[in-house]
Amino acid sequence: MLIIKGNKEDVNMWVSIRNNCVGCGACAIISPEVFEVRNRRVTVNQNRVCGNEDNCIDAAITCPVNAIQIDDY
Ligand code: SF4
Repeated sequence: MLIIKGNKEDVNMWVSIRNNCVGCGACAIISPEVFEVRNRRVTVNQNRVCGNEDNCIDAAITCPVNAIQIDDY
């Protein structure tokens, strides 16, 4: 079972962006609560991953360059 919490110290899902991101914005369309794109750079609001886990996974699958990394803790 995957348990999601908001703090890195005890999260079970952690979302990060690899350097090959091209800033297309697809992830922010799928999950605007978690992903924000400005000037083709993505930031991840880790505190919003909880409750949006499925959308994070969908964004990772949809990313055209496989730049979204999801780690389990
Ligand atoms: S979908 Fe992938 S390439 Fe596009 S902005 Fe998000 S992380 Fe970057």
